[in-house]
Amino acid sequence: MSTTNMQHRLVILGSGESGVGAALLGKQNGYEVFVSDGGKIKDIYKSELTQNGIPFEEGMHSEALILNANEVVKSPGIPEKAEMVKKIRAKGIQVIGEIELAYRFKGNSKIIAITGSNGKSTTTSLIYHICVTAGLSAALVGNIGYSFAKQIAEDPKDWYIAELSSFQLDDIITFRPDVSMLLNITEDHLDRYDYKFENYINSKFRIIENQTMNDYFIYCADDPVIEQKLTTLILPTNPLPFSMKQELKKGGYIKGDQMMLRIQEERVSMSIYDFALKGKHNNYNTMAAGIAAATIGIRKEKIREAVKNFHSLEHRMEFVAMVRGVEFINDSKATNVNSTWYALESMNKPTVLILGGTDKGNDYTLLAELVKEKVKAIVCMGVDNKKIIEAFKNTAPLIIETDCAKKAVNTAFKLATKGDVVLLSPACASFDLFKNYEDRGIQFKDAVKEL
Ligand code: ADP
Repeated sequence: MSTTNMQHRLVILGSGESGVGAALLGKQNGYEVFVSDGGKIKDIYKSELTQNGIPFEEGMHSEALILNANEVVKSPGIPEKAEMVKKIRAKGIQVIGEIELAYRFKGNSKIIAITGSNGKSTTTSLIYHICVTAGLSAALVGNIGYSFAKQIAEDPKDWYIAELSSFQLDDIITFRPDVSMLLNITEDHLDRYDYKFENYINSKFRIIENQTMNDYFIYCADDPVIEQKLTTLILPTNPLPFSMKQELKKGGYIKGDQMMLRIQEERVSMSIYDFALKGKHNNYNTMAAGIAAATIGIRKEKIREAVKNFHSLEHRMEFVAMVRGVEFINDSKATNVNSTWYALESMNKPTVLILGGTDKGNDYTLLAELVKEKVKAIVCMGVDNKKIIEAFKNTAPLIIETDCAKKAVNTAFKLATKGDVVLLSPACASFDLFKNYEDRGIQFKDAVKEL
């Protein structure tokens, strides 16, 4: 039989948002698609697969139906050390991620891809908001929750603004963004990288590996990890750094309260007081987004307008309510120490800090100084709070343990007085007590509303 007549069998492991998107795009492009999920598939995804005539299995991985694939799309949640992945690799079958598949079918559209340890969703959403304000045909895709592949299958656009995690970058081969962005690198997810920080750094830097001198790379020049890595690389792309410490000739910088962007001939200046997003970390994010927008030719009036009127995202330094003079802030998305550091850093009132959850190997000493300076009490909200109590017993004036959002909120409210802030910025994953960080944020907000 001639191989040219044979259909390309694409097996998709994992049937969440990205897996189903990959299945739809593969099917649309004539592949023979099969979806296999070791766990349960959500009803909404099942019906999408059924409606599109795509066969699937759940609760198991049938080797006979998987190892005959020409290519496998692996969900970013499945690690290399999973048994089935090892078997697929052993057979020499090409493994890609949904991002790589989407890239194959993107046509002439262009991509801005954003990665980093923190600030990805915020910056990605802001870039998207600027693009839409400027009237571009654009879509928000990737780790932010919308499948890139599904977007291409169902509603292709001229521009894709893609948030990418390191896991998604691990499974690219030819993916090449026109504009790439690396916001920062701090230790995270080391359990997936053999506990070697270097592996995680390399994974983040894969965002530029296929770039060319027609492309751009926006990165934070104040980040010591990024700067160190750059000394070991010859960049295949055009660097556009940003900084708050030095005046850069290209890229962008903030000096005093003024942001200045310098992209080719374009100059954009703006007061940071006009940024809708507040706090030092958001000044970085806003500057990075502004550079991306100017790089693709969006006019400065549109950039200024969009940066001014952007609304911050739910669960990220989200103002919840003022209850009898106590302000409540939901930063449930802070699932690592670095995000909590930035959250605390931006506090200018005495703070009752709600911390805790599933520890991912956190080093809490990084928070010690800010806790000493700003925190009047820590309320632990987790199944196992020992590590937090141990870490802060000499720095926090008071530490109290709770084991649900309602108790945490009530306790924090009792400890706070008029003029204080209660900040939920847990520095941990949420899986011990909640479904996910959204559930944690919602339960927190509900408890605040009941006060
Ligand atoms: P990500 O998508 O990378 O997880 P988000 O935009 O959802 O990032 O923000 C997650 C958390 O990180 C928030 O709690 C926020 O306060 C914090 N954060 C946002 N931007 C930055 C940044 N540039 N540096 C450090 N922390 C940040």
